[in-house]
This record gives sequence, C-alpha cells and structure tokens, in this order.
Amino acid sequence: QPGDAHPPADAVPAAEITRPAAPESPRRVVITGAGTGIGAAIAARFHGGGDHVVLLDRDAEAVAARAAELGEGAQAIPCDVTRDEEIADAFARIGAVDVLVNNAAIADPFTPGLEQDFAALDRTLSVNLTGAFACAQAAIPAMTAGRGVIVNLGSIAGLVPMAPRHPYGASKAGIDILTRCLAAELGPMGLRTATVAPGYIRTPGVAALEADGRVDTAQIRRRIPMGDLGRPEDIAEAVFFVASPAASYVNGTLLSVDGGWNAFG
Ligand code: NDP
Repeated sequence: QPGDAHPPADAVPAAEITRPAAPESPRRVVITGAGTGIGAAIAARFHGGGDHVVLLDRDAEAVAARAAELGEGAQAIPCDVTRDEEIADAFARIGAVDVLVNNAAIADPFTPGLEQDFAALDRTLSVNLTGAFACAQAAIPAMTAGRGVIVNLGSIAGLVPMAPRHPYGASKAGIDILTRCLAAELGPMGLRTATVAPGYIRTPGVAALEADGRVDTAQIRRRIPMGDLGRPEDIAEAVFFVASPAASYVNGTLLSVDGGWNAFG
C-alpha cells in the first residue's frame, strides 16, 4: 500500500531467512569518495581483509594514487556521483557488486545554511543524498541475493541539530531513512543495508582546518564523552563489520561511531 513501509507480506519468505554466506571468493567492494579521508580508510580496511576494492571519486588523480598504494586487488575509477552517465559507466565497468559503500559527501562548514543560495543547497543534497540513491540504484541489479550489502555514511549532524549546518544535516538525516526504506524493500531479496554515522573524525581535511585554527576542536571535544575526535580507521572498522557475514541479521540500522556524542545528545 502507498505509505506502508513494510515489505508486502507475500514478498517475505515463509521459511528460512536468506542470510549471507561467508564469501568463498573475495568480495567486490565499491567505495565512493575513496580518494581521501574516511573513504580511503574504508578501502584500505576491505583490501586488508582480502576483498577486491573499487575506489570511485570525482578526483581522478587522488583515487588513482590510493589504488596504486593498495596495489593488486584495488581498482580506481573516476566517478562524480552527481553525474548519472558517469555512474552508469562506472558500474558497467565494475560488473558484479557485493558491497556498496556510499561515502562521497560534501560539507560547507562556513556558510550558514540560511545564507546559502539555491545552487549551494542543491549541491549538498545532490552529492550527499541523490548521489547515494543513484549509486544504490546502479548497484542493486549487480548484487547477488543473500550476498549484497549497501552501507551509507550518515553523520552525527543528521542526528543532533547543528544549526546553521542545515543542508548537510538534512542530507544526512535523509541518508538514515534512505537506508531504512531500502532495507524494507531489499530484505526479501536477501540484500542488507546499514548506516554508519561518524562523529567528528580527524581526517586529513579536518586536521588541516584544526591546524590553521579554522575549527575549534577543543569546543567539539567537550561534547564527546570520550574526550577526543575519532580516527578514519574507527569508521572503516564499523563499516567493515556491518558489511560482514558476522552482521548477517543487521539490517536497516544506524550505528553511531562518535565516542558517545549521540548518546550524550
Ligand atoms: P572528505 O571530504 O575528506 O572526502 C570525501 C571524498 O569524496 C573526497 O575525495 C571528495 O573529493 C569526494 N567527493 C566529493 N564530492 C564527490 C562527488 N560528487 N562524487 C564523487 N566523489 C566526491 O570526507 P570525509 O572523509 O571527512 O567524510 C567521509 C564521509 O563521512 C562523508 O559521507 C561524510 O559526510 C561523513 N562524515 C565525516 C565526518 C568527519 O568528521 N570527517 C563526520 C561525520 C560524517 P573532493 O576532495 O574533490 O571534494
């Protein structure tokens, strides 16, 4: 029925749930925005676990350099997730997909949301939300029932209002419901989804802002019960777990990885 979030009753298997089997061959893992930061750490984690990783990024040079650092079993494909023809080309080249990690995102921490023009508002939503949606649409037909997983990167900013960062926060709150809608729809096909929502993570980009004093991490640290920012590897480990057969009954959920910030409020 329209508005009914639950899968239709006749689509739900009556007997055994199709749980992902432990993969016998390396999984093919596609990570968007993998040229730097958390995306690069996610690619390294899966690659280190024996998977074949495909690194997508709009920055062709960065993504080629990351793939070259990883070596065999890592492939770079330039892809801007706001361009549907680039997404189609990339997924046509990739073939079968076991795990899609929608990581690419942008954030403008300096212009208050209410002062952003239409183009700026639209850009944030387009990369962070529409881009993730479009990559999921491209990946789903390439996934095998009982094996495919989509992991979307959310944010503490999608859980706790951080005005004036409205566009970014709204895009990340949208990611949560996208993950849940996809879980409802894809569960009967044996495909799973999850959101991993980082807190403040010391990526190279954040470290640069911290170093030149444009981000006050002392103030941020006071909001984190564990007292410090996270590392890209903390997020990569959580993404690796929710995508693994060990998490075979985890579906549609959001995992905060933020040192307790979301719990603290
Ligand atoms: P970064 O900005 O460091 O890296 C994001 C990567 O995505 C960059 O390589 C960027 O390229 C690329 N990218 C941007 N737009 C596009 C696009 N249209 N198509 C393809 N690639 C694109 O981000 P982080 O590593 O910090 O964050 C990764 C994820 O984690 C994001 O979803 C973010 O929202 C989330 N997150 C991060 C937090 C943090 O503290 N770092 C906190 C909460 C959530 P370019 O360099 O050219 O822009």
